[in-house]
Amino acid sequence: MDTGLMLYVVSTVSAGLLGLFLCAYSFFKLKNTPGVLYFGLLNFAVAFFAFMYTFELLSTSLEQVAFWLKLEYLALPFIPALTLFMILDYVGEQVKTKYKYMYLLLPLMTIFFHHTNSMHGLYYSDMEMMRVSNFEVVKLTYGPWYYVHSLYLFVTLVISTIVAFTKWKGASFRFKMQLLFLVTGILFPIIGGHMYMNGLSPDGVDLGPVFLSISLLFFTVSLFIFQLFDVVPIAKEKIFDNMQEGILVVNKYRVLLDFNQAAERIFPILSSTKIGSDIDTLFLETEELASALQGDTSTTIELKREMYVQLIFTPIYEREHYHIGTIISILDVSERVQMERRMFELASIDSLTQVFNRRYFIEKTEEVLANDPINSVGMIMFDIDFFKRINDTHGHQAGDEVLIQIASLIKSSLRENEMVGRYGGEEFIFVTWDAPPELLYERAEELRIQLEQLIIFYNEKELKVTSSFGVTYLSVTDLKEIDLQELIRIADKNLYQAKELGRNRVVFSESLVH
Ligand code: GH3
Ligand code: MG
Ligand code: MG
Repeated sequence: MDTGLMLYVVSTVSAGLLGLFLCAYSFFKLKNTPGVLYFGLLNFAVAFFAFMYTFELLSTSLEQVAFWLKLEYLALPFIPALTLFMILDYVGEQVKTKYKYMYLLLPLMTIFFHHTNSMHGLYYSDMEMMRVSNFEVVKLTYGPWYYVHSLYLFVTLVISTIVAFTKWKGASFRFKMQLLFLVTGILFPIIGGHMYMNGLSPDGVDLGPVFLSISLLFFTVSLFIFQLFDVVPIAKEKIFDNMQEGILVVNKYRVLLDFNQAAERIFPILSSTKIGSDIDTLFLETEELASALQGDTSTTIELKREMYVQLIFTPIYEREHYHIGTIISILDVSERVQMERRMFELASIDSLTQVFNRRYFIEKTEEVLANDPINSVGMIMFDIDFFKRINDTHGHQAGDEVLIQIASLIKSSLRENEMVGRYGGEEFIFVTWDAPPELLYERAEELRIQLEQLIIFYNEKELKVTSSFGVTYLSVTDLKEIDLQELIRIADKNLYQAKELGRNRVVFSESLVH
């Protein structure tokens, strides 16, 4: 056999074998990963084409050539579409199956025209054997449909390249390398086709299969070195970036390895940050965040005003026990925190007066008494005098306004170790702890005078009210024995007595010392 021919045969057979190997590999090893179905089919088509082409090369008569050509054309027209489908799948672009079928229409027509060429000559207008150096190849003169097919091939490969490059921006180094290899792989058939059509191929041999096998080589490098398909990189990257929660990946030396777009939105500093920075110095300015990041348990912090994030740490282990890094998820929980606050407010704050409601006041006081090491408790109950008259004379809204103003005044005059709540209606409850009894009486007197002097403007009228106070005091040695209900009962009894004695006064009695 002629050595030149031998060389072509060796390369086309190698192309076929490589295609078969990659097809089998993708089928058995890479099942179910995006793009791999088309990768497998593409390899099969290339292998089939390459083998059939080998027979064409070895043919000595036009009949033989025509026979092998027909077989080649069972696979060849599908190659561009399969490449495009592979890339689309790989980068995670969903295309409806019906559009894919439509895209296969042209290759099917090509097969039809190719097979029926003897009837119309639309694909080849002439076909003759031609002697090049020491062997014969077929010399084909092309008809119009051949150019349609070539244009389809060219356009499809260009679209594939564009699709691959749309993922370039923001892709990591590894993905960029994968894209580069994929695109280079796509470019080879374009170059090969161009050379063949312009008569630049040596000996007029169609180097298509050889160029296609070079494509496959590039895909292979991408496959094995950069793990194309392996971890579904671009699809993963897409998920990674589209996630609601921010993700930071750090290694065990606390070096930032990766972060997603959500993380960048939460921490704008990341946009000017290089991967490889130390995360502890990166967030140094936000003290609370820096210390939360030091830990390894889930925490919620206020990142800035009204913005709360929850940090969740997931350690990454290699072979189960070598700690190699951590995934830090950052959830924006502002809405949840605000909602919780709102719920808490609704459950604990009286909506009219904005002081604690009775239930929460009791709960909170019990908490203070149980937790703080305190020595004494003072309880003040006060009730507005003749409040009904305000309602009757000026209307219920005027009454409301009086309640609001009174509560607001008391709230603003609260000192350390004091709490106020609305006990019900126009009666308030006030607790103070660790104040001596004589100061407690003074405090109640002070509040009484403040309320007496308060002028409430309502509808251009000046309203004034007085209040009666019932006060009691308990000095405690054993906190557990404080009976809050009993204290309230005594304060209330004193309040009743203050009313009896003529209102606008403080009645004080010390409770029994335990
Ligand atoms: P006293 O000096 O004995 O306490 O006389 P009073 O009129 O204040 O006492 P009474 O208990 O007879 O009347 C309390 C009134 O407070 C009755 C009720 O309609 C009114 N009240 C209770 N809650 C509210 C409220 O939220 N808004 C308004 N405007 N009035 C209220
Ligand atoms: Mg009253
Ligand atoms: Mg009352």
